[in-house]
Amino acid sequence: MYDVIIIGSGPAGLTASIYTTRANLKTLVIGGVKWGGQLMLTTLVENFPGFPEGIQGPDLMENMRKQAEHHGAELLLEDFTKGDFSKQPFTLFAGDKQFQAKTVIITSGADAKWLNVPGEKERIGRGVSSCATCDAMFFRNKNVFIVGGGDSAMEEALVLANVAASVTIIHRRDAFRASEIMQQRAKEHPKINFLFNSEITEIKGEGRVQSALVKNIETGEVKEMPVDGIFVAIGHIPNTKVFEGIELDEQGYIKVRDHYHTNVPGVFTAGDVHDRSYRQAVTAAGFGCAAALETERWLAMQGKEAEFTAN
Ligand code: NAP
Repeated sequence: MYDVIIIGSGPAGLTASIYTTRANLKTLVIGGVKWGGQLMLTTLVENFPGFPEGIQGPDLMENMRKQAEHHGAELLLEDFTKGDFSKQPFTLFAGDKQFQAKTVIITSGADAKWLNVPGEKERIGRGVSSCATCDAMFFRNKNVFIVGGGDSAMEEALVLANVAASVTIIHRRDAFRASEIMQQRAKEHPKINFLFNSEITEIKGEGRVQSALVKNIETGEVKEMPVDGIFVAIGHIPNTKVFEGIELDEQGYIKVRDHYHTNVPGVFTAGDVHDRSYRQAVTAAGFGCAAALETERWLAMQGKEAEFTAN
């Protein structure tokens, strides 16, 4: 029986585990076959406090893992497959194993959607990115493309336009779905250009991104265009499909109630799996800390209630 099982091993999950273990709660982290979350796909992280020269994403996660294990967290490198959240203690399954826990913190994150075109995957962190706030600084005075037509694409374009030489938003239709105000801001910016009815069909370059094949969907014409960076802003998919009984919003993110609680008493959540606004490693870590402290308080309250009933 664990006091707490944390599902997910990104900054939210590992931070939560550092707090729960230091509070003497027996903690299991179901970290997944591919542990570490989104930062394992990045290169230099310059905005996580404490690293004046920046730190490679995988190194940051390795450090967090060591810190969690140092304090006694058990990390299981298997994927969570299902959980019974209908009664206490909760029963969780991962791989062919079964576990029981008094509380659960869901920190399973959200994955950025990618274009899935040739040349993209191997250049993630080498010119291909899904986060302008994280990576804009690497594109000072460079030319970048942004793919997408929603609020994220407009927002990323505005962030990049502060540093890049030029920003071109490539959208597959002739109208954006972004809110009027965000479209307006992007359209009024002198450095932001638009390419409608277009899609990237291949990303090229010696190691890093150097060009992209861009297809005009109406005419079928394909042009090779030189570019230094490609930001994919076509949405995120929260990793929530496996959580039966946990209330989600209309876009599949976990609905958070007071104190990082889900709709199920004893089940908490932290990080990108509920947060669509910030999506930063440091905010995810902060949410992880908060959810862990709430878990600790909730367990303490349960203990007090049991004592009160017994007396
Ligand atoms: P979104 O609204 O779902 O927009 C995704 C965009 O990517 C759409 O324009 C879509 O094109 C395009 N797209 C999807 N798949 C594609 C593909 N395979 N190839 C090329 N293009 C593709 O996602 P989002 O912009 O990330 O926003 C998500 C939510 O967060 C929204 O509710 C948004 O309002 C909110 N948000 C708000 C703010 C803000 O207010 N500051 C900032 C960011 C996000 P189609 O239009 O053709 O479908």
